[in-house]
Amino acid sequence: MTEKGETESRCWVWALSLYSVRLVGKGRKVIAGGRVDCRGASSPHELNNGKLFQSKELVVYVMHSVLRVGLGHDTHRLSAGRRLLLGGVEIPHEKGLVGHSDADVLLHAVIDALLGAAALGDIGEMFPNDAEENRGRDSADMLQRAYEEIRRRGFAVVNLDCIVFAQLPKLSPYKQAIRRRLAELLEVDAEQIGVKAKTGEQVGFIGRGEAISAQCVVLLEKTTLEKRE
Ligand SMILES: [Zn+2]
Repeated sequence: MTEKGETESRCWVWALSLYSVRLVGKGRKVIAGGRVDCRGASSPHELNNGKLFQSKELVVYVMHSVLRVGLGHDTHRLSAGRRLLLGGVEIPHEKGLVGHSDADVLLHAVIDALLGAAALGDIGEMFPNDAEENRGRDSADMLQRAYEEIRRRGFAVVNLDCIVFAQLPKLSPYKQAIRRRLAELLEVDAEQIGVKAKTGEQVGFIGRGEAISAQCVVLLEKTTLEKRE
């Protein structure tokens, strides 16, 4: 909402780009919304199927929405004597992932997906793996720092979908905990996060239990509001 909009009790957001309409209140909280075909309409009255558009109290905003998709992928070797962290959740296993940081392969894939969607480079540029301050670093902290850069540019997470490829351990008992932890770190609802687990079908480096890989795809949205006189 614009500064002036903060003082107005109600307004319509007229989203031409997505052909949807949302009624928002203070703090940009969506009160109601629905799909309306706005194509060809030049004023709110032309959209009018409801009384709200006729009210003098209401202010019309056009919402411009930009969507960006990002893809992340990462692999780390498994070795005895290391903790196994996946998506910020510690998982009991005889081996853990090896890396300069805490080697949370899923969080690294999520970070790369976020950075990619915002065209901000990759995790290696933001957190070089030869930098002393990144040794043993908590990947949750790395995610939050990268996410701060994303949010500073006005982007919000629409949803993300992840896959972890591991022969062992069996991850199905941990998928919900990983979803909740990712939701907590990104300050979104767990419904916006998908976590899937696959084995390596006992072939290749995943199937032989030598490494764990992760993939993540994320959709970001940046919205701007323009008041319509
Ligand atoms: Zn990594």
